[in-house]
Amino acid sequence: MLLQAAANYTVETYVLENDEHCPAAHLCHHFVKGDIRDFDTVYQFGKQLDALTIEIEAVNVEALEKLESEGVKVYPKPSAIKIIKNKITQKAFYKEHGIPTSDFVITHTLEELHNHKSFLPAVHKIGEGGYDGKGVQVIRTESDLDKGFHAPSVLEKMVKIQKEIAMIVAMGADKSIAIYPPAEMITDPVLNLLDYQLSPAHLSDKVLWKAEAIAIRVVKELNSPGLFAVELFVDETDDVLVNETAPRVHNSGHHTIEANYSSQYDMLWRILLGYPLGNTAAILPSAIVNLLGAEGHSGEARYEGFTEVMKMDNVFVHLYGKTHTKPGRKMGHVTIISKDYQDLTYKANKIKHLLKVVS
Ligand code: ADP
Repeated sequence: MLLQAAANYTVETYVLENDEHCPAAHLCHHFVKGDIRDFDTVYQFGKQLDALTIEIEAVNVEALEKLESEGVKVYPKPSAIKIIKNKITQKAFYKEHGIPTSDFVITHTLEELHNHKSFLPAVHKIGEGGYDGKGVQVIRTESDLDKGFHAPSVLEKMVKIQKEIAMIVAMGADKSIAIYPPAEMITDPVLNLLDYQLSPAHLSDKVLWKAEAIAIRVVKELNSPGLFAVELFVDETDDVLVNETAPRVHNSGHHTIEANYSSQYDMLWRILLGYPLGNTAAILPSAIVNLLGAEGHSGEARYEGFTEVMKMDNVFVHLYGKTHTKPGRKMGHVTIISKDYQDLTYKANKIKHLLKVVS
């Protein structure tokens, strides 16, 4: 999606990724096969470029630091990626800067986790390597303790969540800031993945202002140009807490392609190319339905109900071009736009039942 947006600008794109059949491979000008975690691979790849951005935090940050020191524009800055890529340093960063987040303790082993019975109910999150709900375990009672991680992790107090929202914040090299209207998540308790999303979220003015102020604080304290998604919890008492931040274009911003004047992808190009930030306002409210691989289906992907969905008005299907599906794999998303929230909810539910990724 970032590469699709690049077509509007005079920019030559290079992609580094280990899978030459990945969706980005045929959309860039130059594809380089290689491991983003390897220092030399990232350094050799970046040396020839004017500007670099990332899609996933697991990238080799030391190589990015070296590239930055040699004059390559790296947005987000490696210093911001370093804080964010490990949930332990990320939580410590919020605490250090007085940014509201749930209380936490750090654990290194399962034995150590067992010392924190009085801290329950809580959520255990692995420091590095977790993604899309993997690396997160809910520990409600003592009997759940063995589900935790035998690795450096954070144990966070369980928040009584009223709403999960995400705020996308853009920061230019000149420190100019733009913030998108919030998105509201509805999650699937079984897969622990996003079920569908509405934007702009229904929030009181007071909660909205708090959420905006906190999201902007996070990005200002990270002190890095780039595009950031700040995931927040609104708790039962209307307090707003940071869950986590992604230093990149994010699934909570897919709707901005059709629903906002400047999409998150267009915005990141503006930042990378040194242009003024775009208009973040919503043209119309929107919903996103994630297309996940259906349970019990692994293999070459087929899309059941596709034609029916394509018949629907103001519905935009995005298939990522991944050839193989497996249960829970993100295969695409569908955006719905409408001035009427009821229409959004109705269509989101209809699409969820109609469109299936099977093998
Ligand atoms: P990931 O990085 O894998 O997306 P998250 O840290 O966002 O993992 O956690 C996944 C989900 O788990 C969240 O969307 C939320 O529903 C739930 N969760 C995470 N942390 C807490 C918490 N402290 N209290 C209550 N629920 C939480």
